[in-house]
Amino acid sequence: MNKLEISREVLDDTDPRLRQKCVEWRADSVPASELKRLLMEMKETMRQEGGVGLAAPQVGVGLRVFVMEAQGNMRYGEISDIPFQAFINPKIEKYGKKTGKFEEGCLSVRDCRISMMRPKHLVATWLDENLRPRRKRLKGVEARIFQHEYDHLDGILIKDYLPEEWQNLV
Ligand SMILES: [Zn+2]
Repeated sequence: MNKLEISREVLDDTDPRLRQKCVEWRADSVPASELKRLLMEMKETMRQEGGVGLAAPQVGVGLRVFVMEAQGNMRYGEISDIPFQAFINPKIEKYGKKTGKFEEGCLSVRDCRISMMRPKHLVATWLDENLRPRRKRLKGVEARIFQHEYDHLDGILIKDYLPEEWQNLV
């Protein structure tokens, strides 16, 4: 069966695997047991690195999968706790009208924080870690992390939002 090749280290932004357009997870191409292993490894790596989110391409896997978790003081100081969650084949149904700024960092773009304007709310659908379909209106930090990780699935990094002449500096 198709065994996933999962990097133990978070890839840095020079790695072409971060630029791939990821494909949806399907049980007939990747067995559920392999997906589960991917989620476990991603959870471990995210915790080790002190991140609040991690997308599959960041560990070299081109699937539309990401995880998030925030507990107390981590890289982002005081933010509300978010339990561990996996998002498999996430889709954004609609965005809220209001936007807000938040300083984002990325485990793949070291030493870089960018104040990003994004919609504050969104409605999304996905499969959770038990492969149950979910639909929810996300807000706050959860909505923010969702959008950051979702970008990764399309090969987009936070530094892409900078003016071109700055991009080589980060
Ligand atoms: Zn990132």
